[in-house]
Amino acid sequence: MPNTWIVVRIDGRGFTKYDFLDLLCILLHIIFCEDLTPPRLCTKYDFAKPNDKKALDLMNNAAKAIMTELPDIAVGYGVSDEYSFVFHKTCTLFDRRASKLVSTIVSSFTAYYVHLWTSHFPEDPLTPPLPSFDGRAVCYPSVQNLRDYMSWRQVDCHINNLFNTTFWALVQLGGQDTKEAEKALAGTFAKDKNEILFSQFGINYNNEPEMFKKGSVAYRDYELVEPGGQNLEKEVDDIAEPVVQSKTQAEKDRKKRGKAMVVVEHLDIIKDDFWERRPWLLS
Ligand code: ATP
Ligand code: ATP
Ligand code: MG
Ligand code: MG
Ligand code: MG
Ligand code: MG
Ligand code: MG
Repeated sequence: MPNTWIVVRIDGRGFTKYDFLDLLCILLHIIFCEDLTPPRLCTKYDFAKPNDKKALDLMNNAAKAIMTELPDIAVGYGVSDEYSFVFHKTCTLFDRRASKLVSTIVSSFTAYYVHLWTSHFPEDPLTPPLPSFDGRAVCYPSVQNLRDYMSWRQVDCHINNLFNTTFWALVQLGGQDTKEAEKALAGTFAKDKNEILFSQFGINYNNEPEMFKKGSVAYRDYELVEPGGQNLEKEVDDIAEPVVQSKTQAEKDRKKRGKAMVVVEHLDIIKDDFWERRPWLLS
């Protein structure tokens, strides 16, 4: 749809869950004692529960790589095995065709994920079946709708992480089995989980790593990389009187922004602060 913000979200395929075909394989395994079930990625490479830092770093570096390659991506947000990539509402890449955008993002992300694997898991080389990702595109008509979407993903990150952190504390530190832990958490609110973590395990949830609590936001840090050594604030100070930006100047600025370095940080993207301090991201 023209003039809308496009979000392409990719998600790791079968990182933990078994699909119908896998269940069939498990059944055959029981009958014929021949194991045909591909192990899940998280199990096969022994991801730490509930958060494997190396795996998250790998997701972030794959996202950084494709955002560096595709300046049309304005901002990215990642949590768990998913990443959302936002295209500006004026983006014209591939004539905005959904199948082109999604397939390019999915294949480039997968390629980088596989390429960068060895630097994050040097002791554990990848073997088939190899990791893969699915993807979809959704259009959001306004900046507010887009921000609501981003907030939704970050809220999801927070809710899941608080649950998972408490769940695995009960299992790993409290010696409960997974059924007991699930039961202990049924119907609990955030404050109850915080209380369980603190009173039973001395864990202050606030002190958990920011990447686990907030997920990761990837964007071009405009002020950090100014090839001429000037930053944006300085340039603004130097302008004596207000100037109406010409079209070519706007185009130049856009190109300059496209060249800025992509950084990954773990910040609150729900509040206005993040966006207000980086007006170039959604302008
Ligand atoms: P699907 O193919 O439907 O996406 P899936 O098994 O990938 O199936 P998701 O809902 O995407 O299911 O969930 C991914 C799961 O992978 C998370 O719930 C989490 O358990 C695990 N996971 C992903 N990234 C990490 C990580 N960095 N550390 C530990 N576990 C992770
Ligand atoms: P686009 O991104 O639009 O697909 P492209 O450069 O990949 O751009 P295609 O129309 O897909 O354009 O054409 C691919 C070209 O790559 C072929 O025309 C051919 O010249 C070259 N090519 C692809 N595979 C081979 C190969 N195995 N050996 C030699 N040349 C190849
Ligand atoms: Mg999925
Ligand atoms: Mg998944
Ligand atoms: Mg997922
Ligand atoms: Mg082509
Ligand atoms: Mg081609």
